[in-house]
Amino acid sequence: MDQPDREESGVVFNIQRYSVHDGQGIRTVVFLKGCPLRCRWCSNPESQGPHPELARNAGRCLGVEICDYCKEICANGALGLPEAGAPVVDRGICRDCMACAATCPAQAMQPYGSVRTARQVLDAVEKDSPFYSRSEGGMTLSGGEPLTQPAFALALLREAARRHVDCAMETCGHVSWTALSRACGLLRELFFDLKVMDPVKHKEQTGVDNRLITDNLRRLLTEFPRLAVRVRTPVIPGVNDSRDDIAAILDFIRPFPHVTYELLPYHRLGAQKYAFLDRDFPMGDARLDNRKFEELRNFAAGNRQAE
Ligand code: SF4
Ligand code: SF4
Repeated sequence: MDQPDREESGVVFNIQRYSVHDGQGIRTVVFLKGCPLRCRWCSNPESQGPHPELARNAGRCLGVEICDYCKEICANGALGLPEAGAPVVDRGICRDCMACAATCPAQAMQPYGSVRTARQVLDAVEKDSPFYSRSEGGMTLSGGEPLTQPAFALALLREAARRHVDCAMETCGHVSWTALSRACGLLRELFFDLKVMDPVKHKEQTGVDNRLITDNLRRLLTEFPRLAVRVRTPVIPGVNDSRDDIAAILDFIRPFPHVTYELLPYHRLGAQKYAFLDRDFPMGDARLDNRKFEELRNFAAGNRQAE
């Protein structure tokens, strides 16, 4: 039974070590590619598509007059005249084969994501096990949405359990109940994003309505009462930065006092990655009003304490 799990493979775009914000203790966060949502504020645009994608960092390019290796090796003719210093990728022709990334001496062309087996991922994760035992840390699955690759995500969780590595997971909730409930049985902690309660606004801002998300959250809070669940709301300017928005979410989780609730401030750290993918950042110049955020955070904390 062990072997199929270990050799199950999926697409991972990052393994981040020494994280202290994604669960108990020091954690290794494994980011899986693929997400059913398209949140306008997404800070990991490289996580959204299910397959490896080519990133073009023009600032690193040595200049086509010096090397030109990528253009020579591209069998698809997807690289054109330089723009901002590096050859432009015709995304309609590019097959994301990564031949240019393999040859670029400056890492100006790089892959977002690669295929790995559960064994390879856990071998990397286990290198941090001395930190886990001292801090009660472990592995956290993130994304993207980990459960868009359900067989791989579950193989990672089972393999971690075999190696006695503690597991947490972050989810957007727009996933099958079967996959979510199986994962919940293998987790110590679950981070569940609840962004907007109004289904129409949710669809406008994320591409999907929130019925599956709220159904899944209600069901898991009922069927897994002992699982530590942290519901999180990223506060996005012009989207859900009002008391009414947060009050609607607080109303939804009110019957579940064991749930921890947290607001996260919007940030723009992912903006550059949109440029690397030749995509526009949908949020433009929008900024979060920090005072408004603190006021909302106090409102939420006061509301939960009063229950
Ligand atoms: S990823 Fe492949 S197809 Fe795309 S530009 Fe590079 S070499 Fe060409
Ligand atoms: S191989 Fe790399 S450094 Fe050379 S032109 Fe292409 S992107 Fe620039």
